[in-house]
Amino acid sequence: MNTASTKIARVVVDIAIERAFDYLIPTSLEPVLQIGSRVTVPFGPRSVQGYVIQLLTSTETKHRLKPIGKVNNIEPYLDEKLLQLLHWLSSYYGARMEQCIRTALPGAVRKTGARFREQQSVSLVDGAPLPDKLTTQQQRILALLHAAGGKQTVTLLLKEAKSSRSPLQTLIRKGVLVLDATVQPRDPFAHSTFLRTEPLALMPAQQNALTAVVEAMRDDKPKPILLYGVTGSGKTEVYLQAIAAAVDRKQQAIVLVPEIALTPQTVSRFRARFGNRIAVLHSHLSEGERHDEWHRIRKGDAEVVIGARSAIFAPLPNIGLIVVDEEHEPSYKQSEAPRYHARDVAVMRAHQLGCPIILGSATPALESWHNAKRGKYTCCTLSDRADYRQMPAVQVVDMRIEAERQGHPVIFSKELLDAIHSRLQRKEQVMLFLNRRGYASSLICPKCGYVSECSSCSVSHTYHKTQHALLCHICGGRRAVPEHCPQCNDLSFRYAGFGTQRLEAIARKCFPHAQIARMDTDTTRGKNGYNHILDDFRDRKVDILIGTQMIAKGLHFPNVTLVGIMFADMSLHMPDFRAGERTFQLITQVAGRAGRGEVAGEVFIQTYTPHHNAVQTARQQNYDAFATEELTFRKELLYPPFSHLICLHFRGVNEAEVRFACESYARQLQSNATSNLIVADPVPAPLAKAKDIYRYQIMLRSKSVRNAIASFRDIAKSLPLPQTVTLAIDVDAVDLM
Ligand code: ADP
Ligand code: ZN
Repeated sequence: MNTASTKIARVVVDIAIERAFDYLIPTSLEPVLQIGSRVTVPFGPRSVQGYVIQLLTSTETKHRLKPIGKVNNIEPYLDEKLLQLLHWLSSYYGARMEQCIRTALPGAVRKTGARFREQQSVSLVDGAPLPDKLTTQQQRILALLHAAGGKQTVTLLLKEAKSSRSPLQTLIRKGVLVLDATVQPRDPFAHSTFLRTEPLALMPAQQNALTAVVEAMRDDKPKPILLYGVTGSGKTEVYLQAIAAAVDRKQQAIVLVPEIALTPQTVSRFRARFGNRIAVLHSHLSEGERHDEWHRIRKGDAEVVIGARSAIFAPLPNIGLIVVDEEHEPSYKQSEAPRYHARDVAVMRAHQLGCPIILGSATPALESWHNAKRGKYTCCTLSDRADYRQMPAVQVVDMRIEAERQGHPVIFSKELLDAIHSRLQRKEQVMLFLNRRGYASSLICPKCGYVSECSSCSVSHTYHKTQHALLCHICGGRRAVPEHCPQCNDLSFRYAGFGTQRLEAIARKCFPHAQIARMDTDTTRGKNGYNHILDDFRDRKVDILIGTQMIAKGLHFPNVTLVGIMFADMSLHMPDFRAGERTFQLITQVAGRAGRGEVAGEVFIQTYTPHHNAVQTARQQNYDAFATEELTFRKELLYPPFSHLICLHFRGVNEAEVRFACESYARQLQSNATSNLIVADPVPAPLAKAKDIYRYQIMLRSKSVRNAIASFRDIAKSLPLPQTVTLAIDVDAVDLM
């Protein structure tokens, strides 16, 4: 509550504006206004919504302050701790406070007029005298209400009486009926059932991890805990029991999972333990559901919040534990402002609250691993699968030899073909992973080398056989397949490269008696496409499941005994210093889908670069060896985790202007460069053009984000950008394309 001397409130208004504004607090509002209050303020000729971020006694504003119009909610929407976190977010990621608040409060909550769904019903007032004259409509309403036992919901009553609202309102006004309203929260689980599970008896390593978390709960400044556990080692069971410990202490927990892993399968494991005390935040909720969940969370009615990225801002009143599952996932980084990394924000939030945080992964991000190695994090390791199930046997197949043997590039090595046949015979299931959708990755003219490319983006078209069209995977643009080469008129176009559609077609030829399904964004459109395919696979109606990275993560199918990774090198040749790390992660995650039941699993990695460190260490399932070599290389080049990588993105429709702006910034920055601030040369982004927008970038590497941003801000003041060029700053950049 504010003191007697504060009379001014700093307000972030809910429109896209760089700064906050100061307003007078009218005496009448003083008792109810707090930091975090949602208010209505005059803004030019309009009234807008805003959030109080600070209470002040004086202002630098020159003109006369306008008074706050009203306080919309008695309880603040943002508590002081959360506001502190948002201030940090805003300064660390160089984003506007208004954008940060927008990220923390869902649109459905911010919107004026967003409210609870009320179920209105009417009932007869006992002994009320009936008016002399009743219309037919009114008579019918009364008769139906009598028939329903004196009480009925308004919607149903009007529907049955085939009546408009006004006869009903007349009856209410005359005191014959009363209206009552009860809040009916929209429940995303309204139509699902679940079986309860009991905590499992933990394996010793799991028990050690749980003990570490419970001890951290008693510490007021606990270190983050890195839970490094191989796939299937029972990390989730540790989360569940750690959350139960927080709940026992009358506290709540946040569980972050990557959006792609926020499947009903994941959620049901938490529901089976915590029932309706969990709240789920994901992108498929309706506005109404999101609104109600948020308020339920704020009131402390939910004990566990599970959600993707933005769930880290969930307004739980008393957080006792934060869990970040698959903490290495690049999707935790938001690609628009504020470009925050949810794992790092989670670590910050836990630090502010003094509560434990678990970062879980089978392939930790090197940043987290490095923090564990130097003692900033506590590391708990689960090196065996739960119940001592075996890790799958992994084989590397050199596809160069295979191509030589068969005289042309092939998709299936002989080893993999044989392995699939034997699984089909034994009625076991197979997953084949290929991280490119579509049929062929490009259409090439074998005579002149012409490749069909998108005219708006600097990428080649992917051929989609089912639609018989060339599609751009960046802008979604579509082009009919030309009948002859536009360059040399030759008729013999060839499809080069493989996509999941082509893999499916070839698999159908090789295994005519097998049931085959494909899972990628082309086959999972529509609300239930995704679950449908997975249900069929679980029910063993499908023998071979082909898919993109949609099948790489989190899925648990005990009857899968064979996994094939078709082109393991695909991610290795990306122009990104994390290409090796991504490849190692992907192979490990995909391989982890095999052998999760009674029968041991087998994995085939088909590759053209069999001796690469990432491929070999993934084969040996030796994360430590991978990390050690990778960290040596990162240290030499001062790449993260030995520095922060900050990417400046220049974009615009006019290439010359974009390049010029980028080059002038680079020159200025380079003249400020020190051994602590490395400024790379200005270059076109690897994806040089997307949707007709040209993209240039400058990479900065610095030990201190604050220094790098300060140096950038100085330059930004003296170097205005042309109207058509935008500049975005990406701190701790993950996507370098
Ligand atoms: P992770 O999250 O590490 O990939 P999961 O939590 O999915 O591993 O565990 C894999 C399987 O092992 C699940 O079926 C889980 O129920 C089972 N499991 C986990 N812990 C135990 C345990 N202590 N005893 C028996 N089974 C366990
Ligand atoms: Zn395009």
